[in-house]
Parts: sequence; C-alpha cells; structure tokens
Amino acid sequence: MNDCLFCKIARGEIPSKAVYEDELTFAFRDIAPQTPTHVLVIPKRHIANWYEARGEEDALLAGMMRAAAKVAELEGLTESGFRVVSNTGADARQTVQHLHMHVMGGCEMTEKMG
Ligand code: AMP
Repeated sequence: MNDCLFCKIARGEIPSKAVYEDELTFAFRDIAPQTPTHVLVIPKRHIANWYEARGEEDALLAGMMRAAAKVAELEGLTESGFRVVSNTGADARQTVQHLHMHVMGGCEMTEKMG
C-alpha cells in the first residue's frame, strides 16, 4: 500500500534502524522503545493485521516467527528471554495498520499482558 508507514519503511522511503532483513520480512527498531530492546518485525508486503493474514502462504507466516527468533538471537536475548507481542485491531490498540510483531527484551517484564 503506497501511503502505509511501514510499507514506506520496508521500501527504504522512510529511514529506520534496520536489525534484520530477508526475502519476506524486515525488522527495525521501534521509534519509541518500551524495553531496552524493542524491535518490530513486519512482512515486506502489505498485510493489515493477523486476521487479514489468515489467507497468506505458510512460508510468510512461519517466516515472521523465524524472523522474530532471529532478531532475538542477533540482539543477544536467547539466554535472558524475550517477549513477542502483536496487536490486532482497536481493543488491542494497534496503531499502525500493517502487521507487525514487537520483539521486546533486555529487562524483566511484568506478568500483566492485558
Ligand atoms: P502498535 O501500537 O502495536 O500498532 O505498534 C506500532 C509501533 O510502531 C509503536 O510501538 C510505535 O512506537 C512504532 N512506530 C511508529 N512509527 C514508527 C517509525 N517511524 N519507526 C519505528 N517505529 C515506529
């Protein structure tokens, strides 16, 4: 989608701090980190959210998860642990309508997730 913020980031039209990239996914640092490590993993092609992703090819869906694990490895989080969060829709407070997974770590997090 031409006017989508994360599509523009994936195309390099808006600058970002890249962490990882492969054929299907792109990962970059969140502009307002909520944990010492806070990286967003997105599909390069536009998918709005997890519900819209239900018809996508398995390779892309699995690739998102592999990319999150790769980011954790690159950021040195595999021993200490990390959290992967992905918001879909209004109640979950999704603010950017391009599917993304937050990979967060570098501190002990709270038990509460909702
Ligand atoms: P969500 O609220 O789950 O939709 O997450 C959207 C995330 O995108 C938030 O954590 C924002 O801080 C982050 N964000 C918004 N604009 C940018 C940007 N230009 N570069 C990096 N992260 C961004």
